[in-house]
Amino acid sequence: MRALRLREWKSEPVLEEVPVPEPGPGQVLVQVGAAGACHSDLHLMHEFEPGTLPWSPPFTLGHENAGWVHTLGDGVTGLAVGQAVAVVGAWGCGSCEHCLDGLETYCERPDLAPVPGGGGGLGLDGGMAEFLLVPAARHLVPIPDGLEVVDAAPLTDAALTPYHAVRRSLGKLRPGSTAVVIGVGGLGHLGVQVLKAITAARVIAVDGRDAARVAATEHGADLVLDPGPDTAAQIREATGGRGADVVLDFVGSDETLATAAACVRQLGDITIVGIAGGTLPVSFFGLPYEASVQTTYWGNRRELVAVLDLAARGLLRADTTIYPLEDAVTAYDDLAHGRVTGRAVIVP
Ligand code: NAD
Ligand code: ZN
Ligand code: ZN
Repeated sequence: MRALRLREWKSEPVLEEVPVPEPGPGQVLVQVGAAGACHSDLHLMHEFEPGTLPWSPPFTLGHENAGWVHTLGDGVTGLAVGQAVAVVGAWGCGSCEHCLDGLETYCERPDLAPVPGGGGGLGLDGGMAEFLLVPAARHLVPIPDGLEVVDAAPLTDAALTPYHAVRRSLGKLRPGSTAVVIGVGGLGHLGVQVLKAITAARVIAVDGRDAARVAATEHGADLVLDPGPDTAAQIREATGGRGADVVLDFVGSDETLATAAACVRQLGDITIVGIAGGTLPVSFFGLPYEASVQTTYWGNRRELVAVLDLAARGLLRADTTIYPLEDAVTAYDDLAHGRVTGRAVIVP
């Protein structure tokens, strides 16, 4: 089968011919229907030094996957061949405290996990191929009626990650509150929708690209701003001087983190989602009182079930641009140069 492989750090991926994997006991072979192209893959290709992460190339890219159950390994029950499924991407040991809490993203027994701190497309072979080997049936969620596989794939990260992030701050997103979304790309355009779907917060979106600002408005943002030196002041002004209760930074650069710190309200949350590598100095008087700064990583099975349900009911929708697998490198190039609105999705 064809697969888009990252062969080594700091390299462009290559389309290669590889064997179709065979599912062992407990495993499931999924026929890939679609795989989203995440900006994290660009960080993987271009920025990571060997040894930064606990896993390394070569592996097939694609960690936002959906498709159809193709072959069941021995002992797998509860799934039917041909069934449409979305893949929960983080694959932990399944038995440590965090995994039992459903937080396989934060598995504490990496020695027992298929890959430490990763999953398909992140250390193990991912979904930018015709087939994807999934190590356990619990990583598959049936796609509800009314939702196409190609629309479900990007939700497994680009919607799941913002959903997990918003849930962490849910108590602060009361009526009258304000949430700021910085970066309205693949994750951010779904972040705006998640905020609208599950909270009563007013949403302010910030992005420098025209298409992203249009998308933010279409998806319900109440105010849309350009990034710049005045952004935080504009957010303070729009909130009666109080600032934002929650800032979701889908970029994570020095500049965006500085904006977040300058516009967050007392008792508010700054959640760093983007991994652009920026830093934010934290000190007692450096932030409003009791403002919290937190990182967040992906989400879990229960949250993916919720995200798919929201999408099937029309409350979330990924804007997608479809590329055939042969053009996956072009898709990443478009993503790197800000030419993708919403999510680029690869179809084998
Ligand atoms: P994307 O390229 O689709 O979107 C990024 C958006 O940010 C673009 O619309 C861009 O115009 C905008 N942007 C860039 N600089 C900006 C600035 N200074 N101010 C305002 N907007 C700006 O990327 P994506 O796939 O949505 O990923 C976003 C980030 O989140 C990446 O760093 C990615 O690696 C990371 N990510 C993190 C997690 C996690 O679990 N923490 C999961 C997936 C992706
Ligand atoms: Zn991702
Ligand atoms: Zn574990």
